[in-house]
Amino acid sequence: MSDVSLKTNKLANFINGEWMEVESSKAVINPATGEELVQVPLSSAKSVDDAAAAAKKAQKEWRLVPAPQRAEVLYQVGYLMKERKERLSQLLTMENGKVIEEARGEVQEGIDMAFYMAGEGRRLFGQTTPAELQNKFAMSQRTPVGVVGIITPWNFPIAIATWKSFPAIVAGNAVIWKPATETPIMAFELAKIFEEAGLPEGVLNVVFGAGSEIGDAMVHHDDIRVISFTGSNDTGRHIASEGGKQLKKVSLEMGGKNAVIVMDDADVDLAVEGIIWSAFGTSGQRCTACSRVIVHEAVKETLEERLLAEMEKLTIGNGLNESIKVGPIINKAGLEKIKSYTEIGKNEGAKLLAGGYELTEGDNANGNYFAPTLFTDATADMRIAQEEIFGPVVSLIPVKSFEEAIEVNNGVTYGLSSSIFTNDVNRVFKAQRDLDTGIVYVNAGTTGAEIHLPFGGTKGTGNGHRDSGVQALDVFTEWRAIYVDYSGKLQRAQIDVD
Ligand code: NAP
Repeated sequence: MSDVSLKTNKLANFINGEWMEVESSKAVINPATGEELVQVPLSSAKSVDDAAAAAKKAQKEWRLVPAPQRAEVLYQVGYLMKERKERLSQLLTMENGKVIEEARGEVQEGIDMAFYMAGEGRRLFGQTTPAELQNKFAMSQRTPVGVVGIITPWNFPIAIATWKSFPAIVAGNAVIWKPATETPIMAFELAKIFEEAGLPEGVLNVVFGAGSEIGDAMVHHDDIRVISFTGSNDTGRHIASEGGKQLKKVSLEMGGKNAVIVMDDADVDLAVEGIIWSAFGTSGQRCTACSRVIVHEAVKETLEERLLAEMEKLTIGNGLNESIKVGPIINKAGLEKIKSYTEIGKNEGAKLLAGGYELTEGDNANGNYFAPTLFTDATADMRIAQEEIFGPVVSLIPVKSFEEAIEVNNGVTYGLSSSIFTNDVNRVFKAQRDLDTGIVYVNAGTTGAEIHLPFGGTKGTGNGHRDSGVQALDVFTEWRAIYVDYSGKLQRAQIDVD
């Protein structure tokens, strides 16, 4: 089905511009077939020390390279990614399982980010502002932080890395990247692209290995000043508390419990399309996946019927096959978690309308497949309506009014994405004001962020930072205020003012 190959059976760390093998390794499994794809290194903390030393040295020079020239490397990275889009997409489907159409979309997101952040090389805007004294000049500018650590999850193995490493690099930092152990191939391929694009040695370093070993060593390393993390809430909290002890800047993007609201005046067919795409795309393993549908009771039955009809059309299997719409779950542990939540839903009294089982026969026998699952008559306080399941499971929660819909949407500990289907302009504006999430969609599902807008969430989803958009630069830069006094005398602010 695929015509690409890795040309190696064991990956290597990329430190100081060199490919460094380590002894210990682990198999990377294709979740669609159960086959081994490659061995990923299980490095020790010593590799983090080596990477940090290389990054520290490299950053001293890199910060002095004019930003438009730093950007030239990113443009080159963008062109190489574009050239290799199909190869990267197929490898992405093989290591992660998402269907090929979505994999192409994810790689495109990385390409878009390369060109967008390369453009920042000629902006990185600061401010000039009047000074309060005569013959004095005042301005603020962004300065790089130094060495930054990025820790990424398996569900978007290339896009999220580009959201973090591209702004960091264009801003003049050096990067140490620890990719998820489940999906190291995209990291290996992207490091090769940076090498070919001419990035000076040591500016990007990739260290493979377990989060508990490599991630932990990065969080505790004195020379790493920023940790930008995307992953689960538990890991994020741990990193924040450990990083906080060293006053590190820690940027966290974590889970979601995202909802689509369908009002009584909605275009129900459009809402069905939006729900199917957001709930079952990437088999529900997106941080922005729709896992709750808050439906006005007047359209509940119609919505159920049409959702069931569309769910029947979903084809499940190996995502390399262009006709497949729902790929596998990342691993057995993920599958078990999803299974356990369907049991929890049944025990809580929600009504199972479709799915709720693992697929174990025929072509699907060796992969991790779970049928798209629909519960109805869930209540807002049920665990299936509160906790992140990270699988193709969606729960319908009936409500009586717009106000109740907003309350239910906001009544969870997460705050990443929300969506409302309505044709009432007053409701649209009230919803975008009152939905307590970092991303709000109107008449579209909960997924589909564009790279030049800020990405992230409120409450338990994050800690106030954002990936993507110009806002990502705030994570990887410090603001410096600069005053130039050309009066030739000592002028004291707030004192020598007439
Ligand atoms: P995870 O288990 O927290 O892992 C994320 C990363 O952290 C991996 O690289 C992991 O390494 C590493 N890690 C694990 N333990 C660590 C430790 N003690 N110290 C430092 N690093 C450590 O999350 P996941 O299961 O891969 O990803 C799924 C989660 O990510 C979901 O909750 C999803 O909602 C969230 N997510 C959020 C966003 C967003 O932008 N808000 C986007 C995508 C995903 P190993 O791989 O070696 O374990």
